[in-house]
Amino acid sequence: MSKNGENRQDGSINAAREDETKEEGNAKHDVFTVEKRSQIMSRVRSTGNASTELKLIAEFKERKITGWRRNSKIFGRPDFVFPKLRVAVFVDGCFWHGHDCRNTKPKDNADYWRAKIERNQRRDRAATERLQELGYLVVRIWECDFKKKHRDRLDEKLTPIAEAFARRRAADEAANEKNV
Ligand SMILES: [Zn+2]
Repeated sequence: MSKNGENRQDGSINAAREDETKEEGNAKHDVFTVEKRSQIMSRVRSTGNASTELKLIAEFKERKITGWRRNSKIFGRPDFVFPKLRVAVFVDGCFWHGHDCRNTKPKDNADYWRAKIERNQRRDRAATERLQELGYLVVRIWECDFKKKHRDRLDEKLTPIAEAFARRRAADEAANEKNV
């Protein structure tokens, strides 16, 4: 499943590049129409994110972590929020959020992509800072953290959530016992 999402994402970008090459053959340098570009982008965005979010839910379940909310409207719109734990989790696509793991940096229209990615990165930093000011533990997970070889990186990021959850549950249980 993981491979699918990634392949599709790469596929979209590669497909885009093929188009560019073709047009270069026709001695045209500027490539996508705005429409085509936004088509490609929305495809990348939706497939990339949905599958990694599902993978993350599986990881939460494996760790018996519950209580997340999705589509939260709090600042920066984290992908997952644990209101009781005050934890905000972002799942960031490596391409769109400029992770340095990517070796496929588009050469064509480099300025266009770079500007777009840098804007996302600024937005990401602002969201992290703001949420931390509001007392949130902010966890940012890269799409590539789900790869088998990065297993411990993912573990490291999820452990604080699991611990916060365990502390909270222990506190709840203690409070319940007092009330009995
Ligand atoms: Zn990455």
